[in-house]
Amino acid sequence: MSSAVPTVASGEKPPFLQIDDVVKDFGGGAVAVNHVSIDIAQGEIFALLGSSGCGKTTLLRMLAGFETPTSGRILLNGKNIAGLAPYERPFNMMFQSYALFPHLTVRDNIAFGLQRDGMAKGAIRERVDAMLKLVQLTKFGKRKPHQLSGGQQQRVALARSLAKRPQMLLLDEPLGALDKKLREETQIELVNIIEDVGVTCVMVTHDQEEAMTMASRIAVMSEGRVLQVGAPSDIYETPATRFVADFIGNVNMMEGTLSVDEPDHVVIECADCKHYVGHGITGTAGMAVGVALRPEKIRLTSEKPEGEFNQVLAKVHELSYFGAFTVYHLQLPSGQMLKVSESNLARHRADPLTWDQQVWASWSPTAQVVLIH
Ligand code: ATP
Repeated sequence: MSSAVPTVASGEKPPFLQIDDVVKDFGGGAVAVNHVSIDIAQGEIFALLGSSGCGKTTLLRMLAGFETPTSGRILLNGKNIAGLAPYERPFNMMFQSYALFPHLTVRDNIAFGLQRDGMAKGAIRERVDAMLKLVQLTKFGKRKPHQLSGGQQQRVALARSLAKRPQMLLLDEPLGALDKKLREETQIELVNIIEDVGVTCVMVTHDQEEAMTMASRIAVMSEGRVLQVGAPSDIYETPATRFVADFIGNVNMMEGTLSVDEPDHVVIECADCKHYVGHGITGTAGMAVGVALRPEKIRLTSEKPEGEFNQVLAKVHELSYFGAFTVYHLQLPSGQMLKVSESNLARHRADPLTWDQQVWASWSPTAQVVLIH
């Protein structure tokens, strides 16, 4: 279900970058990129997210010009860039390994592309100074890459990518080489720098948290196709398919049957509970549907909640304390597990839960997402 590319009415500005029905078939079976259409606006940080082999790197490489689409078009400001070699595109690609020259200083690494373009020495000096300031490495200009931390090397690579003022920055797993803590800090730094410069950015990542933190919009990819495009909160709160719901964050998936189908609510009967969902869906009574319920949207109480919907009596199978929150694995009557994440607002729960205890899990009629696909 790739997002259709809207036709541009005459006089209307075309999207900044338009990926129009692009296919890349390397032959030998699976198609790496399968009829992908995405519009990217100027100034966006757009993430291609998916697990290994889903085709995200191939798509990025086609944007960079390192691969040629089998069919389809890539348009920049309405012009097809298919015929342009990588160096002729106003893009810069930053690789996971950074590919810094080890024998050159930080300054010379940043200046490299500018020198190759024949820029005047004074102008290069000014541009490199500005880039060093931007990535807060002014004091490190004379160092060699091996004398820097991983995060600092990453910033040099970014400064080098931005030095030529590309219209578009392509990032291939930009933080893949950093450990978790440094990666989290660097994600925010990187976004701040990219936003300061105002450059449009397409990044590839398999790390959903990274995509959620950094991107203004995300395309979730699987097996060469785009399953959903949206803001991080849209993808998290209203996933379009079971795959996306399961891929992004933690989710409890329950399978059931639509028993009441009204414009303002539906009822779905599952093995362990009846869901009352406070909005309509395009379905028909009797059809099989999935219900996705995020762990943080479930409450736990020792008293039975009122009514008969959106609740289940379960047994605490496992609990893990993470400081800020506790995760409970509850066993439902059918044997299915229900994951519940509870914020530790107070230092101790008023009615502490322990293993094998019975507890009521309940949720509101707006907590669930009903999935047909
Ligand atoms: P990863 O995160 O592991 O890099 P990915 O999502 O970026 O994965 P791609 O590298 O785009 O995936 O690969 C998509 C598919 O295309 C894979 O099945 C891969 O084996 C295949 N593929 C990629 N490059 C080539 C190539 N040059 N020749 C043949 N097949 C290729």
